[in-house]
Amino acid sequence: MLAILAICVKTTNQNTSMINKISQINRDYNSSYSTARASKPKLPIALAASTLFLLALVFVFKFYSPSQLDSPAKQQVVSIKLPALPAGTDDIIEPLDVINHSKQSSTNALKTTNALNNNVSKHTVKAGESLAKIFQTQHFSPSTLYKMMNSGKAAKSLKSIKPGQQLSFIKNKSGGFLSLEYQIDRIQTLKVSKTDAGFNTELLKKPVEIATDTASVKIENSLYYDGKQAGISDKTIMELANIFGWDIDFALNIRKNDSFALIYETKFIEGERIENGQILAAEFINRGEKYQAVRFVDKDGHAEYFSPDGKSMRKTFLRSPVDFARVSSRFNLRRKHPVLNRIRAHKGVDYAAASGTPIKATSDGKVVFRGRKGGYGRVVILKHGQKYSTLYAHMSKYGRYKNGSHVKQGQVIGYIGKSGLATGPHLHYEFRLNGVHRNPLTVKFPAAKPVAKNQLASFKQQTSPLISQLELAKQTQLALN
Ligand SMILES: [Zn+2]
Repeated sequence: MLAILAICVKTTNQNTSMINKISQINRDYNSSYSTARASKPKLPIALAASTLFLLALVFVFKFYSPSQLDSPAKQQVVSIKLPALPAGTDDIIEPLDVINHSKQSSTNALKTTNALNNNVSKHTVKAGESLAKIFQTQHFSPSTLYKMMNSGKAAKSLKSIKPGQQLSFIKNKSGGFLSLEYQIDRIQTLKVSKTDAGFNTELLKKPVEIATDTASVKIENSLYYDGKQAGISDKTIMELANIFGWDIDFALNIRKNDSFALIYETKFIEGERIENGQILAAEFINRGEKYQAVRFVDKDGHAEYFSPDGKSMRKTFLRSPVDFARVSSRFNLRRKHPVLNRIRAHKGVDYAAASGTPIKATSDGKVVFRGRKGGYGRVVILKHGQKYSTLYAHMSKYGRYKNGSHVKQGQVIGYIGKSGLATGPHLHYEFRLNGVHRNPLTVKFPAAKPVAKNQLASFKQQTSPLISQLELAKQTQLALN
């Protein structure tokens, strides 16, 4: 019983510190307001949590045998059903695959040593192993390696061999070098062969087939979690966030019941799905507002995302100065965001993230202030043209741009910290139009260049089938639900 009490006390402490964490983010400028707000719920929540914990303990004691309780390792195994990803969607699986294949094929290769009496020798690159070392192990002379490396541009790819990759050598009867094959990635293989005239290099490419896939997802937990559940890769989820990143703040403004649909390319080699390609069209519904984007390749081969009526998705300002994946509140969709209710009094938005997280300039501009300023701590102010300015406070460290220098959108101007009046590491971000504070989460930004007038017809022709396909994907998903 003593133990239970001890655990309860511990839980209470944890809860209190969690509430502090949430409230401290906003405490910097209106400390009296946020402190009053934060201290009230501490006790009831802590009590409720410890009561729940007690109930849970009683449940555990009642239904689990003592042997299970004795082994903490067993208890920690929580079975979470993770989505089964289609083969080849995730790059993490690849190295293991390659190693297994190489083991199998090397034994096969030895068995089927060909009729010419040439030897095939396969080598899997180990960590820390250099090409020179591998050549030594294969009993080839250093001059063979030297001549080979200088035999053509393609051979230079051998400089970037990685552990787990495979080199396959063919040697003559007396062990001399005949040829080498190196699979650079799933698509390309380098082949170097010795000829009478020296070395001959060629880059063999497997044909890649491109198909399209659709997905329609309602967000229940997080963009990542629900996206993965629908079989969408990390890369594609990040791309989706990049496409809409000028309109939607993925760090602070995603809510439960937001939804998205997309059409994206999938790449196949010899019938096997290897990775996702470009997003061709996408829709995101954020807090009831609908955003659509289509990919358009112009006559010069330049690709960009536009709204269906031809306006650029790119805006003069990024919605968020911090990568959404880095902000700590991103998984807490059920919590009503404290910032939004208080934005007027607070005059900015706070992004809680680990100290040292990069801060990006939200638009091209000029550094008009870099230094310490009271409660702001280390602060950078950028001016964008005549009307706009942005402010980034509480930095731990500045980026490399000094007072007076020009910065481009997305360049790192500093790193998150807690300098000045801040209880925890976060970025305090302000947006001003003609000197007046605006809500950076909702203010309308001017868009980049639209589709050129003389290309509008080709734009419509290319993209309107995609929009209909997107609608179809949504309806199919609705019918399945
Ligand atoms: Zn703030």
